[in-house]
Amino acid sequence: MRINLKAVALACVSCFALGQAKAQELKTEVFSLLNLDYPGLEKVKTLHNEGKDADAAKALLDYYRARTDVKTPDVNLKNIKISKTEQQWADDALQHTFFVHKGYQPSFNYGEDIDWRYWPVKDNELRWQLHRHKWFTPMGKAYRVSGDEKYAEEWAKQYIDWIKKNPLVKIDKSEYEMADDKLKGDAENVRFAWRPLEVSNRLQDQTSQFQLFLPSPSFTPEFLTEFLVNYHKHAVHILGNYSDQGNHLLFEAQRMIYAGAFFPEFKDAQTWRKSGIDILNREINVQVYPDGGQFELDPHYHLAAINIFCKALRIADMNGFRGEFPQSYLDTVENMITFYMNVSFPDYTNPCFSDAKLTTKREMIKNYKDWHKLFPENKAILYFATEGKKGELPAYLSKGFLKSGFFVFRNSWGTDAAQMVVKAGPKGFWHCQPDNGTFELWFNGKKLFADSGSYVYAGKGEVMEWRNWFRQTRVHNTLTLNDKNLETTESVTKLWQPEGDVQVLVTENPGYKNLKHRRSVFFVDNAYFVIVDEAAGDAKGVVNLHFQMPKGKVANSREDMTFVTQFENGSNMKLQCFGPDGMTMKKEEGWLSTAYRKKVKRMNVSFNVRKDGEDAVRYITIIYPVKDSADAPEMSAKFKNKKFDENGLEIEVKVGGKKRTLKYTLQ
Ligand code: MG
Repeated sequence: MRINLKAVALACVSCFALGQAKAQELKTEVFSLLNLDYPGLEKVKTLHNEGKDADAAKALLDYYRARTDVKTPDVNLKNIKISKTEQQWADDALQHTFFVHKGYQPSFNYGEDIDWRYWPVKDNELRWQLHRHKWFTPMGKAYRVSGDEKYAEEWAKQYIDWIKKNPLVKIDKSEYEMADDKLKGDAENVRFAWRPLEVSNRLQDQTSQFQLFLPSPSFTPEFLTEFLVNYHKHAVHILGNYSDQGNHLLFEAQRMIYAGAFFPEFKDAQTWRKSGIDILNREINVQVYPDGGQFELDPHYHLAAINIFCKALRIADMNGFRGEFPQSYLDTVENMITFYMNVSFPDYTNPCFSDAKLTTKREMIKNYKDWHKLFPENKAILYFATEGKKGELPAYLSKGFLKSGFFVFRNSWGTDAAQMVVKAGPKGFWHCQPDNGTFELWFNGKKLFADSGSYVYAGKGEVMEWRNWFRQTRVHNTLTLNDKNLETTESVTKLWQPEGDVQVLVTENPGYKNLKHRRSVFFVDNAYFVIVDEAAGDAKGVVNLHFQMPKGKVANSREDMTFVTQFENGSNMKLQCFGPDGMTMKKEEGWLSTAYRKKVKRMNVSFNVRKDGEDAVRYITIIYPVKDSADAPEMSAKFKNKKFDENGLEIEVKVGGKKRTLKYTLQ
């Protein structure tokens, strides 16, 4: 059979041309997705029943343009503001230079004919987050502020282009989080474009974009039908593919509440809203320990979880369904805020444990202000919201969260505080690092011992190597065997005594086969810290005690195993480690990362002792915070109990000529 190739080619060209001209199609299936008996849709229903779908779509658009009873907390249409940065993202997007990730700047260009599969650096986040369309809402703001149609026209084009080039093909739910190369073509792309977390992100942000672009002539009746069908597909996709657990599930649930609340006209809207509310009500009890800590043991995700729970409350308040959240939900959120304010430092930053990044004071004051609206009776929240102008500080100083394993020693809530935050909890969820026993230390306006941070999440090759570097136990302020990562991360709190001249924490982690690490921290006279590390068990090898030094000049001596910072007057420290004979000291390259893909060099120090037999390896380390390093005292320390004792500890320290015994007995 002869095929007329020329004719086929011509036909294709013309259908391509037609496709270009009619980029937006009337999607008549929208009428079967909507509850046409919804108040206000009478005209839409009549026209649709008469077979006049084009007119019905027009009536539907009129309905949405006139609709006033649905609100979201994210945009205030009466007062639209655009920041310089957002304006830049909007303008760049006109050229298809898309702001995808703060860690990858300047932004990449995705081509005149947008290539949604472009993956210039093999970091999963870069490819996932492209599909969050972070520049769309800024384009909407730019459109509203300037009135320039070009933003709306381009947004509508990109929106349709995305639908056409990112078809939803079915893959196994587990494959969304996999980083292998098994999937090809559309399936491989779906892993990124349709990962439920990204889908939920669009579900939420498109409520803002919908409101911002709705008045534009580019927002045609045909476009509306495309938009609604696509939006509906998003919600259905999440409903069938909720993440199993963790913060992703929380994000997805909260955004399903958005979807259900924002488009009540969909037949499924009630189901979406209910599924989101049910999940949040269930997960708040699963993911948050009774002490208020979130189970990823990562201050950043803890904060994100608070804000997810609060966001759900705000949209409920605006649309009249607060009653669907019980009082216990509110109480838990309030506990989570109390947890966060305790582990945070006086400059409002959080420790960079696990995958946490540094927060800014500005961002946090905004958070406290938002939280104050939900918890107006909480005086401590008001205190932090107003930088102390109103409200009250908590009545206590040191505070432990025993289930989550976060312990805070502090002698003040002010900038002048000495504050140590110790992390020694149960096995944490995905973002948690194997760092049991580690700590951060703040003194008088500066962090002296900061966690190494996380730098990157996951991807291929070099990206994964860096992630693994920052996750290592040995780049924390804790103890390892042969510099290896902890095999078990299940700390048990043996003692927590947060008051008096000598405050004590005793925590134990069975870190390796036949080796447990008991760390006892004494906060003495509200002034300095004595850390006793005991590695007990049959295991043999080199026991390493690690400390990550602050960036800057740090004088040190192998003779007496001391490190003294040489910073300008204000915040310095002296660290001295007392270990068994034969203890060596090693200095290595260390890194500090407080933002994605940003890192600075520093010194990673370890004290090392070979463990040949059954005897425990024991160290005493004194960390003395001091304003002027010239004032750092002479220090010494020794064990009084000659061997590791399951039931207690007794040591003697001498600091600045003052001798004292530090001891405890376990019940
Ligand atoms: Mg860390």
